Parts: sequence; structure tokens; C-alpha cells
Amino acid sequence: MVDAAHLRAQFLADLDGVASDRDLQVVRDRYLARKGGLVARLLKEIAGTPAADRPRLGQQANALKLDIEANIAARRERLAADRPVAGAIDVTLPGRRPALGHRHPLTIVRAQMEAIFTRLGFAVVEGPEAEDEFHCFDALNMPASHPARDMQDTLYLAGSMRGEAWTATGPRSADEQARDPRTLLRTHTSSMQVRYMQAHEPPIRIVVPGTVYRRDNPDLTHSPMFHQMEGLLVGERISLADLKGVLLTFAREMFAPSSRLRFRPSFFPYTEPSAEVDISCWACEGAGCAQCKRTGWLEILGCGMVHPAVFEAVGYDAERYTGFAWGMGIERIAILKYGVEDIRLFFDNDLRFLEQFPI
Ligand SMILES: [Zn+2]
Repeated sequence: MVDAAHLRAQFLADLDGVASDRDLQVVRDRYLARKGGLVARLLKEIAGTPAADRPRLGQQANALKLDIEANIAARRERLAADRPVAGAIDVTLPGRRPALGHRHPLTIVRAQMEAIFTRLGFAVVEGPEAEDEFHCFDALNMPASHPARDMQDTLYLAGSMRGEAWTATGPRSADEQARDPRTLLRTHTSSMQVRYMQAHEPPIRIVVPGTVYRRDNPDLTHSPMFHQMEGLLVGERISLADLKGVLLTFAREMFAPSSRLRFRPSFFPYTEPSAEVDISCWACEGAGCAQCKRTGWLEILGCGMVHPAVFEAVGYDAERYTGFAWGMGIERIAILKYGVEDIRLFFDNDLRFLEQFPI
């Protein structure tokens, strides 16, 4: 038979492990439940003992029952006292992390590009987005008759540089422009090349990241607003080999150490010779896959040796100085790097897209 002393010791051990109201209820039921409680069972067993022992055992059992009730009441009070006051700060709770935003993929790519060119000794400069025709076109060997200057391609700002309203559409003569230069949203960051060369003597090593604007309807590959990074290096005895070296270093750091470049002859008014540059596809290492449309190559930028007419426009001695320039779309680099299929995703502000990029 279980004796009262043994049951008391067992109860005290159980009480010791109580940490909540719920624990306490379990212990209470285990000892004091009318049906199946350990005290009730003890009393039942006492009923079956010899009559001479019953009063003593009964007394012990009753004392035990009172003792258990008192202990449980005392523990219930302690638990209530320990419970935090409503609204109080519970310093034992784990901290809540503040929600951190993500950097925009174009910001990430631009920072990587700037870091690479800065290591190569290029300074990062920025220029105005509202430009005049001289810096955006004339000085870059794009005369008044150049098709890029058409209203169909370029966003002109209402009003002239002198604040007068203008109604002209399409290319205008040099005389007309001189009388009333128009303001426009720059169509390329090359306009800043001109501004920088006007203000600095060679040698020059700059990259110009920034926003550019074209009169385009948004689709998979076009956006009326996008970003470019222009590069310009001018000095004495600068050759096409220097251009290739700089671009190859960039390609290998930005994409894959095994990257190769392919220069295809092209035409830009402000460079001669000019080239479109392709990078070997890193997904298939040139074998041909879906990303490179089975060609093994991906187009990344346009470049060339600065046209002597550009040097003349900014007052440089075209006999003495040579240089090279390139222009690349920051979206284009990001599209290739991250496998983005629609340029509009960069501007839609959809968090499902943006949250995939690092903080
Ligand atoms: Zn490929």
C-alpha cells in the first residue's frame, strides 16, 4: 500500500516541475481528482485495512489532502503574480527584425560596373538629363539632318533654351538651330563626353552612368526611359588594342573569367572605326543554347575610336590625341546577368520580382 509520506514526496517533486497554470491543473487533477486521483485511491485503500489502523491512516491521508490543496493554492498565486501585466514589455521574447528593403537590380549592376571601371582608373561622372542639341548631337558629329534628331526618336522639351515656344518638327537647318536651340531629354550619355572634354584637357578616363530617354513604346526590349554607362578614354597613342583590353577586363570581371569578345564592324557617327561587341555565352561556353539563341554570342555594347570631328568640336588637337568610347545599356547588362526576359520588369515595382535580389 502507498503511504501518505511517500505520496507527499512524490507530489512535492511534481509541483517543482510546474511552470504554468496548465501544468498546475494537471498536477492538481493527478492528486485531487474525485475519481482516479491518487488521494482518493489512498482513501479507498485505507477503507480495506484492519479497523485498528484506520483512524491513524485516515488522519494522515486527510492531512496530506489539506497539505496538497494548500500547496496548489500557493503555487497558483505565485503564477498569477509572475504573469506580465497587460501591455508590459516582455524582455524574454526574441527580438523582431526590422523589414529590410532590397537593392534594385539596376542599382546592383551599376555599382558593380562602376567598381570595375574605378579599379581600372576611370572616374565616375554624371551630367544633365535635360540637354541641348549641341551636346547631344552636333558635337557628336550628328548634323541637323541626322535621323536621330527627328521628333519620332527624340523627346524634345516644350519651349526653347531661351524659353520661347517652338513649333518646328523634324530636322532643322544649322541656322535655325543657332537662332533657337532646342532642349531635349538626352538620348544617350555620350552628351556628357562632350561636356567633360570641353572642361578638361587630356588625358581623360571617365565613365558616365545615367538615365537616357527615347521616343519608344514599352515592350519586351524597349522602354522610353533606360540607363546607359558611357566610357571615354583620351590621350596620346591610344589604340584599338587599349579599347579591347579595357572591355575584355570588364567582361571577364562582370560575367565569367573565361569570357571572350567578338568585335563586329558597325557604324556610329561619333566613332571611327566603330564596332558592336558580343560576349561569348557563359551558359554554353559558345556551343549555342537558348540564352544565346544558338549563336554562342550575346550582344553587349557598341564602341569605337573617337571620331576626329568630335575632338574638333570640343577644341582638342585631333592630330595629337586619340581615344576610344563605348556605350552600354545597364538594363542590357542586368538582363544578361540575371536572365530577365522583359525590360519592363525593372520599372513595374513588382515586389515579387524585386525581392529576388540581394539586400
Ligand atoms: Zn549559349
